Amino acid sequence: MRSPIPDYLQEVLDDCRNADGGAVADYIPELASADPDRIALALTTPDGTTYCSGDADVEFSIQSISKPFAYGIALLDSGFENVLAKIGVEPSGEAFNEISLEENSGRPRNPMINAGAIAAHSFMDGKNADERAERFRERMSMAAGRELSYDESVFTSELDTAYRNIAIGYMLRTHNILETDPDDVVRGYIRQCSLSVTTRDLSMMAATLANGGVQPVTGRRLSGDRAVRQVLSVMMTCGMYDAAGDWMTTVGIPAKSGVAGGILGVLPGQVGIAVFSPRLDSHGNSTRGVKLFERLTEDMGLHLMEVPPVGRSVLRGHSPHGAAHVFGLQGSIRFAGAEAVVRQVAEADLSGDDVIFDLSRVHGVSDVARRMFLEVVRRLTLEDRKRVILLDPDGIVDEPDAGDGIRPVVISSLDDYSPAR
Ligand code: GLN
Repeated sequence: MRSPIPDYLQEVLDDCRNADGGAVADYIPELASADPDRIALALTTPDGTTYCSGDADVEFSIQSISKPFAYGIALLDSGFENVLAKIGVEPSGEAFNEISLEENSGRPRNPMINAGAIAAHSFMDGKNADERAERFRERMSMAAGRELSYDESVFTSELDTAYRNIAIGYMLRTHNILETDPDDVVRGYIRQCSLSVTTRDLSMMAATLANGGVQPVTGRRLSGDRAVRQVLSVMMTCGMYDAAGDWMTTVGIPAKSGVAGGILGVLPGQVGIAVFSPRLDSHGNSTRGVKLFERLTEDMGLHLMEVPPVGRSVLRGHSPHGAAHVFGLQGSIRFAGAEAVVRQVAEADLSGDDVIFDLSRVHGVSDVARRMFLEVVRRLTLEDRKRVILLDPDGIVDEPDAGDGIRPVVISSLDDYSPAR
């Protein structure tokens, strides 16, 4: 069978092609020469499968899509505390290049606007612009899964006309947000923005974030969970600048746009998405890119605030089984499911000596659900004097330790069960 997904992506692309309003960015002279009719779409799943349509292998400069990644590297290299002391996390509701800093502290409001991104750049390891840019290029190559390089003509073109970013750099230096030479930091930041990527690359980088920081193809962990959560949070609230509220309500996934026409979006645990088309709307976001994302969200139900159908109960049922009472659980157990299990166990009339939890149809247990479940095991053992047995052939609750020296018996088939007495 031929997969229907590429056909679907082609259809979406064709439908959005005529939403061609806006204009190519020209404040960086080199960007003005981009072909405005280019359009591309790519999706990558957490297991590393990429689907593309359109000009997905055409290179363009990453621009502001570099910001969330540089922020993530800054957190890794300099630590949360140092970075948060100098860069806020509040949406500014202003344009990307607004010269605005918090009133007293002089802190940039967030790392997605230029002021915050220039500061974040300075928190990456490296003695000077070239070293930090090289650090950034290496990490981004790992996320993309191929060796990336800088576009020298975009870099020199932006540097030659970077008056506004240099002004921001000097303001940051005045407030001691930058502690080194502002010219050098802005130079490094502009180099970072000139990294050449394709839509396919961006979707792989997005999938690395969707995967909690693990590159889906190489399996290499590039970031810790907490940094990924921090990066996705600022993308959600600040990634689309002064269109952030519009984006949240209509598209509803963390995203970041760049003035070369790329937009990267992340649906945690599910998919990394990238689009590209150079004409920009009045907020500096790709016009067709926004349309593509709106369409994907609508069709595929990607919006994070969409309330999922309330799943079938995780408790399939419970009944006596000889001297034991068996609770059959199923599906993916998170807080709400664990609460239902706790309640049913607490209310059940447990007559025999043994309690068996059949986990053979469970495929995931969140951290809080695991802790709640082990507490149930502990109480059944200590307070109700039961012997607790886990039928857990796949090791879903690995190394179950309920505390106080209590470890339930684990069996992999009901045939292995023999009553306590
Ligand atoms: N390099 C660009 C700048 O600083 C990035 C802006 C963007 O992509 N929004 O102006």
